[in-house]
Amino acid sequence: MSRVLYNAVNQITQKYNAISHKGIDLVKEKNKVANVMAHSEGEVVACATGQVPNTNTTGTKTYGNYVKLKHNNGMYTLYAHLKNVNVKKGDRVKQGDILGEMGNTGKAYGVHLHFEVRTNKDVRINPTPYIDADLPNNEEKNNVIYQVYDSIKEKWLPNVVNNTDYAGNLGNAISGLAINLTKGSVEYRVHEINNKWLPIVKDREDYAGNLGKNIDGIQMKSDSCTLLYRAHLKKGKWLSWVDKFDDTNAGYAGILGKEIDAIEIKIK
Ligand SMILES: [Zn+2]
Repeated sequence: MSRVLYNAVNQITQKYNAISHKGIDLVKEKNKVANVMAHSEGEVVACATGQVPNTNTTGTKTYGNYVKLKHNNGMYTLYAHLKNVNVKKGDRVKQGDILGEMGNTGKAYGVHLHFEVRTNKDVRINPTPYIDADLPNNEEKNNVIYQVYDSIKEKWLPNVVNNTDYAGNLGNAISGLAINLTKGSVEYRVHEINNKWLPIVKDREDYAGNLGKNIDGIQMKSDSCTLLYRAHLKKGKWLSWVDKFDDTNAGYAGILGKEIDAIEIKIK
């Protein structure tokens, strides 16, 4: 379930783009309206009200009616284009409290929620890893956020932040992997079982894998930190941690020919 849209599953209609769209657009379902919830506990530090729904695409105020929260860890979230706002500046909110109703006030092409995550210095970062996960502690710490595609359940499993947990359901092979870092970027690829290494993917511009075609090898590297990663074999055990990306046996996680059902990643 969505952490920001009441009783909904997030559907992303416009992705984050570091240059042109520093947030993410979400809908419940096409033409369905949802209440917007506080992502995490915090304080209302800004809000705007009084904007009316936009009837064209050139709204006067970009965000329309919006709410901005400051969270206990110093991070901010922002919720824009609301139809109406239920809170006021200075209010304390808990995770899940209703902030208002999704709308199309401001510069909006239709009813949706524009959601942003900002650091304690008010810098907008990619919110995608956090739409159903806790916010990172602060901008100083680098976090790796990753998720895998469960081939049996035929769905993406929740994001995991650092190695607070592993990604995967033991016993169910995985066929997709998506990773990003809160600081810097990551390049990664997977080996399709009984086939070949698939193309290298950067951050969440795409994911690595052919969904439905299971994975037996994983490689990743970052320009900004050393990543430690390991794979768990289906009906097997955790293999050794790997800290590089090369053509040797120690340069990838996995054993070719054996399906992987879970992975773990951390920053060295
Ligand atoms: Zn947007």
